[in-house]
Amino acid sequence: MADCLFCGIAAGDIPATIVSANSRTVAFRDINPQAPVHVLVIPRAHHANVAELGAAGEALLCDLVAHAREVAVAEGIADAGYRIVFNTGPEAGQTVDHVHAHLLGGRPMSWPPG
Ligand code: 5GP
Ligand code: ZN
Repeated sequence: MADCLFCGIAAGDIPATIVSANSRTVAFRDINPQAPVHVLVIPRAHHANVAELGAAGEALLCDLVAHAREVAVAEGIADAGYRIVFNTGPEAGQTVDHVHAHLLGGRPMSWPPG
């Protein structure tokens, strides 16, 4: 999608620190990390948010979560535990309208979030 920041990162047109990538999803480090491990995992295909991606009824949402799990293992946080967050809509703080899983870990996290 034209003028979409994360489509640009997925295409390699906008620089990012790529953690790993495959034909359907891309993982890269958040530019403003909120935890020792803060990786964003996105589908290459443009969907506005996780609800839209889920409603599309594709296996892509499973691919996205599977990729987040792979990154958690590779980053050494899988056993300690981690958080996967999909901010959805403005009141949840979604600022980029291309679905992205925040993979957060490497420190204890409180619940509920502030
Ligand atoms: P949201 O607020 O939409 O849930 O999350 C967007 C995330 O994208 C934020 O955590 C923000 O730090 C990150 N972000 C915004 N612009 C860029 C960028 O150009 N590169 C990278 N790597 N992350 C970005
Ligand atoms: Zn996009």
